[in-house]
This record gives sequence, C-alpha cells and structure tokens, in this order.
Amino acid sequence: MKIIGVLTSGGDAPGMNAAIRSVVRTSIYNQTRILGIKQGYNGLLNGEIEEMNLSSVADIIHRGGTMLRSARCDEFKTEEGLKKAINVIKIFGIDGLIVLGGDGTFKGANNLSDAGIPTICIPCTIDNDMGYTDYTIGFFTAVETVVDAISKIRDTSTSHGRANIVEVMGRECGDIALYSGLAGGAESIIVPEVEFDIDEVCRKIIQGRNRGKLHHIIALAEGIGNAYEVAKEIEEKTGAETRVTILGHIQRGGTPTAFDRIMASKMGNKAVELLLSNESGKALGIKCNELISMDLDKALNTKKEFDKNMYDIAKILSI
Ligand code: ATP
Repeated sequence: MKIIGVLTSGGDAPGMNAAIRSVVRTSIYNQTRILGIKQGYNGLLNGEIEEMNLSSVADIIHRGGTMLRSARCDEFKTEEGLKKAINVIKIFGIDGLIVLGGDGTFKGANNLSDAGIPTICIPCTIDNDMGYTDYTIGFFTAVETVVDAISKIRDTSTSHGRANIVEVMGRECGDIALYSGLAGGAESIIVPEVEFDIDEVCRKIIQGRNRGKLHHIIALAEGIGNAYEVAKEIEEKTGAETRVTILGHIQRGGTPTAFDRIMASKMGNKAVELLLSNESGKALGIKCNELISMDLDKALNTKKEFDKNMYDIAKILSI
C-alpha cells in the first residue's frame, strides 16, 4: 500500500474534516502517500486529484463542511462510470481508497471493492440513518444545533404563549427529532417511525395550557409531511397560535462537537490501519462505545432500529 486516496461524498456532515485530517496524518505517519479526491465520485471520474501533506489538513479539525468538497454523481452508478473510476484509480496509482459519506456513498464503495479496489468506508451523515452503527459522524453536531434552536424558540414561545413546530431533517429516520426533542425538552416529538396522532399533540397543548404552561415545542421530522398544514390543524383544534420554524441546512453546518471530532479522528486512523493490513470492503462504526469494522455488504443490509425506549422516555418526561 504505497498510495491511499480519500474522498467525501453525498451530503456533507460536520466532522468530515476531522476525519480527513486523521486519514492524511495517519497515512503520512506510516510513510504512505495520500491523495485527496475532490467532489466525491465526481472528482474521481474527472481526475480532480491532488497530493496532500501534513499542512493540507492544518486548521480544519474544528471546521464544518468538507475541505475536499462533496457532490452527487449519477454517472458513477452506471457500469461505464465504475469502469472509468477504476481506470482513474489505476492511472493515479491509488492502491486503496477511504470513502466518507452515507449509505449511497457506501453502495458505490462496495462496487469498487467488489471490482478489486481495496476500499474502507467511514459513516458521515447528520441523519444517523445507518443501521449497523450506533452513531454517524455529524449527527451529534446537528443535534446540538437543533437543541440550541429549540432553546431560543422556547423563549419566544413562552413570551407569547404560542405553540411552535420545529421542523428538522430526517425523511425516513427520526433520530434528529428524537434526540434533540429529548435534550431540548420538547413537549411532542413527531417522527416517521411512530404513527402520528394529531389529537394526542392537541390534547397535550390543551392540558399544558390548563395548568399554566406557556410554551409548547413540537420537534417534527421533515418526513412526516407539511409542517404548515400540521400547524393549521393544531390552531383549528386547540385555538393555540402555532408557528413553524424550518431549520433546514443550518443543521448541516457548524463546528463539530468534541464527540464527532473524536469519532472522526479514531475512524480516520483505523481506516488507514485497515488498508495497511490489506483489508477491504469494510465499514467502520460505533457499537456500545467500541469502534467496530464490518463487511460492507452486511453493514448495508443492517436495518436501522428506532430507539422506541428513548421515545417513550421523552413522552413520559413531557407529560
Ligand atoms: P446522505 O446520507 O447524506 O444523503 P449519501 O452518501 O447516502 O449521503 P447519496 O446521494 O445517496 O448520499 O450518494 C452519494 C453518491 O454515491 C451518489 O451521488 C453516487 O455517486 C453514489 N451512489 C449512490 N447510490 C449508489 C449505488 N446504488 N451504486 C453506486 N453508487 C451509488
């Protein structure tokens, strides 16, 4: 293993930079050359590849986004695209690849690994929607951002005695709503994994109001549907003035939390070690606080389990 390539693909996540830094420095520590591939699989197909050194990754551990930039690339999903990618990998003399991203990115990496390119994957997505790992890099930073927003919205909600829906990211996975709802003390948490009962939300608003509660925060995952329609229905059923805040891409940026940086640093280091010991087709993850590596096929086929226990606790604490 003389030359390793690294790329970030799919939606960016805070902590990607810390992982890149770890990959670059661990490679150089092991006297292995490291090439940065720009804009995900797109840059791989176009040969946007440059040598990295110790100072290429200076001053990035605390920055959100990805210094290698990210992109979606449909061409890479085709047989032609895959062939082109393998060709570029050979031209640049890349012996192994480290790929950072979500499950789409992992599927692409699996194709490369099946085609004989040693490849290791690091889970980076704010959604925390990958079943084989307890956490993905970027998730806790997004949760911090949402909790901070909920605290601010709670202040104004209390002043005006309003209900507030805070719409967060998560089309199929409600983890951002669940974790930030629990940490932010939201009165209701609405996620795709649990059937949505608007009457229960309304009942809580009325009961809370009757005992003098001035705010009502609803953490709602975007996969549920239109937040404005939910707000309208709540107003009609309870008479409570209801506002909507859609947090959107703010959740994808910002300085990564210490936890995300630590996870990223450990995984970046491990990914290089695995390549150096001739491993391929592995996904790194965290299970019960342990760093794990699992076959990519198995990781991709592990269904994400919703933490119903945590959801129930949040419900109990918001009575
Ligand atoms: P996020 O969870 O943030 O959306 P992701 O990695 O799942 O991240 P995708 O857009 O699904 O994001 O995938 C990123 C890229 O990975 C795609 O643009 C494409 O190049 C490649 N990719 C996705 N799915 C496949 C697939 N089935 N086969 C080969 N390559 C794929």
